[in-house]
Amino acid sequence: MKKRLSALFLMLAMAFVITPGAAYAATVVSEIRLNCDINSIGLNKPNTEKTVHNLIYEKGSLDTGGLTIDGINTGLSYWSDVNDSISGIGDGDETINPGRQYYARYCIRLYDDYSWPDEVGKLKNMDWTPISKVSSLRVFFNGVRLNDIVLQYNTYHKTIYFFIPIGHPINAVLSASSFIYDGNAKKPGCKSVSLKTGAKVLPASCKVSYYDQKWNLATPVKGGKYYAVVRAEGQGIYSGFTVREFVIHEHTWDSGKVTKATTTEAAGIRTYTCTSCGETKTEAIEKLKITISKKPVIQTPAAKKTAIIARWKHFAHKTNKTRKIWKKIRKVQVQCASDRKFGKIVRTVMVGRNKTKAVIKGLKKNTVYFVRVRYYDGKGYSKWSKVKKIRTKKK
Ligand SMILES: [Zn+2]
Repeated sequence: MKKRLSALFLMLAMAFVITPGAAYAATVVSEIRLNCDINSIGLNKPNTEKTVHNLIYEKGSLDTGGLTIDGINTGLSYWSDVNDSISGIGDGDETINPGRQYYARYCIRLYDDYSWPDEVGKLKNMDWTPISKVSSLRVFFNGVRLNDIVLQYNTYHKTIYFFIPIGHPINAVLSASSFIYDGNAKKPGCKSVSLKTGAKVLPASCKVSYYDQKWNLATPVKGGKYYAVVRAEGQGIYSGFTVREFVIHEHTWDSGKVTKATTTEAAGIRTYTCTSCGETKTEAIEKLKITISKKPVIQTPAAKKTAIIARWKHFAHKTNKTRKIWKKIRKVQVQCASDRKFGKIVRTVMVGRNKTKAVIKGLKKNTVYFVRVRYYDGKGYSKWSKVKKIRTKKK
């Protein structure tokens, strides 16, 4: 009897040894739910990869549905074009590269009491397998069932690795890429934006933030180059960002050239040219002021073959009033034109106020010219004298 009991006890004991294994196989984790505010992890900002790596860890969470999970470990990985695989982000401080496809990496390790479905266990150690081939394990990210994420399983650690795409490449065209400075903020929006998720192109909504050349958030007002970080929000988990440059051009005006001479009768025009883009602007130059109330009296000029001698008389300045006027006069301006209205000016010369004649050389022979004179006081002029007509000599 005792022997039979002890034999039974032994059998029970053996059964107990086996039991934990049976329980272990019974608790299968066939559904996991991950949550992470992917918009707050900073992929759209000029962060370092290391910073974003840490932010995914902080912002991510796992809804275990009451199960005790040994650990969840998160991080950032990216798709490497070089070896056509997903690579982990190192400890370096490399800046987030908008051209890259980024993934939030989740590593979930189970306690001994739980196991993944057999289908997961059949995956090759550290092999790449599309999750869609593992139908018995359902993965949700922010409530959206994921069918096309990449799964990796480490049989030794009983750890599952998920790579959730968080930075899809996007197509984005800004509403404008260059502006002319006018003192107002320039914030280009999106003319078009779409997400490239593998073969699919998803329509997306667009958010744009603006940075200066030093990657500080900035209101684009001043002239210069800016970055527009375009973030596209698609359907479900899909989002992405890219960087576009735009310019606010502030004209650099030269000192200007007089393109229409100013006279005492009409305003002139000064034309300024932007030294970097060639744009021009004009500015009116005020009509010259009549500051001298007396004018010289022109005399009949003398003619030579290729020169004329302009002559004039000054007003009498012997009274107090006229002496005062005479005192401020500095020069006499002599002008020679080929037409009576002085539209085609041939020569303009200034001579000292005490002079009463001026030789204008380099003219054509046997040609009609018109001459006039006026006073100049350093600020303004007198009215023009009458006009005298003269023909240069034939021989
Ligand atoms: Zn310009």
